[in-house]
Amino acid sequence: MNYLPIFIDIKQKPCLVVGGGDIAYRKINLLLKANASVTCVSKDCCKHIEQLANDNKITYIEKEFEATDIRKHFFGLHPVLIISATNNSVLNKQVSALAGEVNTPVNVVDSPDLCSFVMPSIVDRSPIVIAISSAGKAPVLARLIRAKLESTIPHAYGKLAELAGSFRDQVKAKFNNIEDRRYFWENTFSGIVAEKVFSGKVDEAKADLQAQLDGSTDSGVGEVYLVGGGPGDPDLLTFKALRLMQQADVILYDRLVSDGVMELVRRDAELIYVGKERDNHAVPQGDINQLLVDLAKQGRRVCRLKGGDPFIFGRGGEEIETLAENGIPFQVVPGITAASGCSTYSGIPLTHRDYSQSCRFVTGHLKDGSMNLPWSELAVEQQTIVFYMALVGARHLSEQLIAHGMRGDMPVALVEKGTTPDQKVYTTTLAELPDLVENETIHAPTLIIVGEVVKLREKLNWFDTDND
Ligand code: SAH
Repeated sequence: MNYLPIFIDIKQKPCLVVGGGDIAYRKINLLLKANASVTCVSKDCCKHIEQLANDNKITYIEKEFEATDIRKHFFGLHPVLIISATNNSVLNKQVSALAGEVNTPVNVVDSPDLCSFVMPSIVDRSPIVIAISSAGKAPVLARLIRAKLESTIPHAYGKLAELAGSFRDQVKAKFNNIEDRRYFWENTFSGIVAEKVFSGKVDEAKADLQAQLDGSTDSGVGEVYLVGGGPGDPDLLTFKALRLMQQADVILYDRLVSDGVMELVRRDAELIYVGKERDNHAVPQGDINQLLVDLAKQGRRVCRLKGGDPFIFGRGGEEIETLAENGIPFQVVPGITAASGCSTYSGIPLTHRDYSQSCRFVTGHLKDGSMNLPWSELAVEQQTIVFYMALVGARHLSEQLIAHGMRGDMPVALVEKGTTPDQKVYTTTLAELPDLVENETIHAPTLIIVGEVVKLREKLNWFDTDND
């Protein structure tokens, strides 16, 4: 180790910053976050530093830095930290040398050789703070690592740590064995209490913890996460979706969840395929609803992973209704719906000031050979219609829209397997749609977009696959 990582308490302690530019400002802000008492010395300063001084958040001394300043006892005390953030290398060197003489830790921005301490990249979930350093060798890499951690550590970890802190003494009193304590905290941090904190129910989480400590609860019930897995590209998952997918003991998934997304579920989770192809539900909906309840009652954490968004043509509502009736705790995580994913990845904006002021998501599922839709409301100008599940009903929808007054040359796009490397986009007109569907081998899932906006694809297409 080149440096010893430590966390210093600089609350109300004098810290000196030499330099008044934007970089100095960033360092000052960091020191202020840790409640330091900051003095900034510089012959001029940026407007942000001026503002901090005007708000009495720092002391700004408007003068060229001199060697004697280092020994000046600001606030009657010697600075505990010095940061030099000027673009004058002679001055930076001088500050570093002077700090060395008085044995005060010094950091010179972007000059590791002149530093006695380095500033890490920080992931702040106070009171949890993670510091990452590359010992000045590769700060950009440290920043990338930080970005990775930022995206995987929920923001509410801070709240969780606060909550744990407030129960520490009680837990210590209840379990005198260190193993039992560890077991208790592990369960707390990866179980329902943590999930409650993450979803903003801190009071409930507190009550649950208290009940567990009082022994007045049956902690046997698991929970269900109804998670939107997006249209296919795993990069379109939300942080929350990913976290819950990696935490669940059981994953119930169907055909619409892409392989790339399935790759990201917890390695040792039990996977249950519940199918769902047109007219061929591998597991009937009622059975899925019941399975979710049964698994949760066994105390398991169940992730019901669905394609797109669970609340858009996803029957997510029905699944959680059964959970609610059975008193099973659940959370719902939105996903990017096929309309959003397919439109962006095919360069077709769903709305556009010149062509479309509204957009409708419609199910094109055929029931008894027809679609029961308000056709005259759909066949209007300046509107985009997105049909889900409409491949089989393409002829019907084309005929109905034309019969209700829509132009036969209205542009139409079919997006097959949108957002995946297998994405394929066909463009045609409303009148020619039925023939296209009959003559080409188009695979599900496919989304049909009807409207003038389809024309924009010519200019805006950016996602190239080998299939177009
Ligand atoms: N809940 C899902 C939709 C389920 S309905 C969502 O929000 O996206 C299933 C229909 O969604 C399919 O018939 C198809 O029309 C559409 N669909 C889903 N994923 C798709 C994809 N990657 N590409 C094209 N269409 C898709």
